[in-house]
Amino acid sequence: VTQPPFETRFWSKVEKSHSGCWIWTGAKNDTGYGMLLRGVPAKGRIRAHRWLYEKTNGPIPPGLELDHLCRNRACVNPRHLEPVSHRENILRGIGPSAVHAKKTHCIRGHEFTPANTKRLPHGRECVECRRMHNAARSRRGIGGKP
Ligand SMILES: [Zn+2]
Ligand SMILES: [Zn+2]
Repeated sequence: VTQPPFETRFWSKVEKSHSGCWIWTGAKNDTGYGMLLRGVPAKGRIRAHRWLYEKTNGPIPPGLELDHLCRNRACVNPRHLEPVSHRENILRGIGPSAVHAKKTHCIRGHEFTPANTKRLPHGRECVECRRMHNAARSRRGIGGKP
């Protein structure tokens, strides 16, 4: 019995949704990440989102792991993924209260959609908040021409 090529099997399990998320419809591990058996000769299971990210962007730097900007662990869209340190990923996930809201929205309640998220070397920034901040600064005449 010959298996179809790995990549063919991979894409047969991806469903592109209207929201921009590429939803993994195959098997998932107990933390909700998509998994796929790599098959012969390379044995073992791979994390679907990680595999596609590395195929698209190259290897993830050592010590970093992928964070879902869309907060959908089943999503494998590389544009929705951002390499962050393990520590940061943990910090993002743990909040004293409203854990879920904290994950998906900024402190002012703007949603962290891919379009509203600016990637920084050590985290992310809400685009809408940055815009408000800049508008307030220019109203006060800070940062403008002397
Ligand atoms: Zn997504
Ligand atoms: Zn915001």
